[in-house]
Amino acid sequence: MQEKVCLNHINGEWKPSRATKLIESKNPADLREILGHIQASNVDDVNEAIAAAQNAFDGWHKLSAKDRAALLKKALALLNEQRTEIARWVTMENGKTLRESLAEVDSAIWEMEFQINEGIRAFGETFPAANPGMLAFTRRDPLGVVALITPWNFPVNVACRKATPALMAGNTVIFKPASLTSIAGAHIARIFTEAGLPRGVFNFITGSGREIGQALVSNRAIKAVSFTGSTEVGMGIQQMAVINNTRTQLEMGGKNPIVVFADANIGQAAADAARAAYACAGQWCTSTSRAIVEDSIHDAFVEQVLAEVQKIRVGPGLDETSTMGPVTGETQLKSILAYIDQGIREGAKLLAGGRRSSAENLKNGCFVLPTVFDQVTADMTIAREEIFGPVLAVMRVKSFEDAIRLANNTQYGLASSIYTMDLAKALRFIEETQVGLTHVNMMTAYKEPPLPFGGIKYSGSPIPEAGKSGIEFFSIKKAVYVNYLQ
Ligand code: NAP
Ligand code: MG
Repeated sequence: MQEKVCLNHINGEWKPSRATKLIESKNPADLREILGHIQASNVDDVNEAIAAAQNAFDGWHKLSAKDRAALLKKALALLNEQRTEIARWVTMENGKTLRESLAEVDSAIWEMEFQINEGIRAFGETFPAANPGMLAFTRRDPLGVVALITPWNFPVNVACRKATPALMAGNTVIFKPASLTSIAGAHIARIFTEAGLPRGVFNFITGSGREIGQALVSNRAIKAVSFTGSTEVGMGIQQMAVINNTRTQLEMGGKNPIVVFADANIGQAAADAARAAYACAGQWCTSTSRAIVEDSIHDAFVEQVLAEVQKIRVGPGLDETSTMGPVTGETQLKSILAYIDQGIREGAKLLAGGRRSSAENLKNGCFVLPTVFDQVTADMTIAREEIFGPVLAVMRVKSFEDAIRLANNTQYGLASSIYTMDLAKALRFIEETQVGLTHVNMMTAYKEPPLPFGGIKYSGSPIPEAGKSGIEFFSIKKAVYVNYLQ
């Protein structure tokens, strides 16, 4: 694979799209810089990749899990070896700081280690059969060809979190990365293919989601789609999947709240809020976007959040002194600034940021200052919609009941946190919060690979990612009955 013109990888070969069209990949820290080009693939490329994956399926799933694990451990070793190079590409394409990109790669390494081991120890149970001479048990078998469609906010971690269980379970894969981070995606394709997976087991194809993503999802040969991205696209995928009865795993948006009570460690809550609101320029699906704060400590909390914001140094991700990079591209930039304008128009009080950086060296990049809004009310757009940028909305409440009502007052249900020293409040919150992952005295963005990762409501599908759900999603649990006393 060449860096400047990034090719597809189909049936064991790096090759250009049949469409012979390219898409530019730009540096969000300086939009004048073209990082490279990716293939603008078409439906013919999709069909070629699907055929290759179908041909490879038989050989791959008949390998033992131990042999599949040995190959994936090589991929993992390559990811470890190329950690810094891959992280640099994440920073160049996505914008996040190099430290954040390295943390992302490290987290991908942990996800892979966990899922390789899960795949070895899978997967069945025996039951006492109703009759003598009978054996009743379950086993897990692969689905076939699966599609992995990933976003640009975590181009490495999400790809590894999906691909490892898919492959360990014995499926063959077509990986379509987000267009904005396709070069980072190609590096991930390279670690899998250079590990020596048989040809056609791991196929990589770039291009417009609307064109090739849609073509993948609507093809009957695709037995499962694991998608991370916007709720709008995810729901469209789910609708299409119904037609072919394709399995879907959807990880979509969030509007994640923290609830801070007077008895909490306010400094900790403010530091965590700032970290989870502004790390990766707020472009995490589990970032904190709403702080719901008890009346009596509201002012102290806001003061400490503003002190944290003062410490943030906005700048290019490859510059070691930067602690927050640009947002990922012009579309994101415009969308975030439009939300900020709407917040101001609807009467929220802007306390910090609220605009692009005016620094001379940042003017060609997509740099949004860390933004804090106070006096945000439930009806405002910035309290309801996912902004996916460095914007925190602070809201005041008087009681636990008001706090939980406000926290749940969203179409999303991904992550939440409570800050309190009161065990009863924490346990009630854990029970009543409508999310897939919740935290006590910890930031909304915290997660570990052994636990499931996903949301409810419009944040996700019933089967989450990661943890035991990884292998479960990518396999069928077959019930087996054997009569051994003929
Ligand atoms: P998106 O359109 O949902 O993109 C996610 C992935 O889906 C990309 O690989 C994309 O390809 C592909 N895709 C797009 N349209 C498709 C279709 N019709 N069928 C199949 N695949 C399709 O997200 P976005 O436009 O990049 O970002 C928009 C907003 O989504 C963000 O502002 C944020 O609110 C949210 N988002 C959430 C997450 C998350 O982690 N939950 C991640 C990213 C974005 P292309 O890149 O080629 O379009
Ligand atoms: Mg889109």
